[in-house]
Amino acid sequence: MKYLRAADTDIDITTLRPVDQHSQAARLRIRISKPEELRFVGNDHWRFALRRAFYRAQADLNAEHGIAKRSIRFASDEVKYRDWSHGTDYVEIALTRPTTDDDIGALLNRVRHHTDERFGIGEWKRHPLTAVGIRSDVHTIFYEVEIDEDHDHVANRLHWWNTQKTVDTRLAVQGGYFAPNSETVNAKDYVDQLWLIRRGHRLHLRMLVRPRPNPYNIVAALLGKPSWFPYAKHPARRLDIFVPVDDRQQDFLHPSCEHCQRRIPVNILDVPHHPRLCPPCQDTQETAHAVTAG
Ligand SMILES: [Zn+2]
Repeated sequence: MKYLRAADTDIDITTLRPVDQHSQAARLRIRISKPEELRFVGNDHWRFALRRAFYRAQADLNAEHGIAKRSIRFASDEVKYRDWSHGTDYVEIALTRPTTDDDIGALLNRVRHHTDERFGIGEWKRHPLTAVGIRSDVHTIFYEVEIDEDHDHVANRLHWWNTQKTVDTRLAVQGGYFAPNSETVNAKDYVDQLWLIRRGHRLHLRMLVRPRPNPYNIVAALLGKPSWFPYAKHPARRLDIFVPVDDRQQDFLHPSCEHCQRRIPVNILDVPHHPRLCPPCQDTQETAHAVTAG
């Protein structure tokens, strides 16, 4: 087999086998995990690395699942702006031919091999072909960032945060040649929940944040600092990514928290974060963390 070049003139076209790289016969969503030491590596790199791993896996298996070339999307693409976090992410990828679940399992095993375990390839699920893309399904991102501040100071700021209607912060504006570099927004519009946990002598802020700001933007807004850069010295860990849930609809699959009655967030694979508790209540009720919620 060889590839065609524009300069190849005398080709017997009956010998050609066109390769379909665009049809989508199956769509998958896969839970992955990005390593901490590569937290500054952007998604464009990961997109190519993952595509290469899928091609190699397919060649190993002598299979013809076909990877739809431009179909690879990450849930964290929705952050757009210096997403220096590691940990849980989800990728969506389309296959050009119908494939059984067993074959997909075998393929992902080989992909795992070709990514040198750099991506923790986790659970996966088929996603309907007609449904919206993964980025549209990102509602909130669950982050954790270590901070160096004194506990009482942060607890006071959390209390202050809860009493404010607006907390001004500046966010970079993406794109547009003549667009301003940054604009002032209300940080609270992007934060669903924000709490502090203590592990030994170390303090971590945990938060459920809507896409656009990175977690350091929120730390800076909470602590009243103009720049988020100093907070980026500690790695931000992404613990999960959640889809929108309809608050009016009570159902068995999407339960409410037993402790605070909030809806328990549901991840990109449609699995609730916990069977009974929302993330901050889980920290309060089930873990040894000391929790300060402001
Ligand atoms: Zn709760």
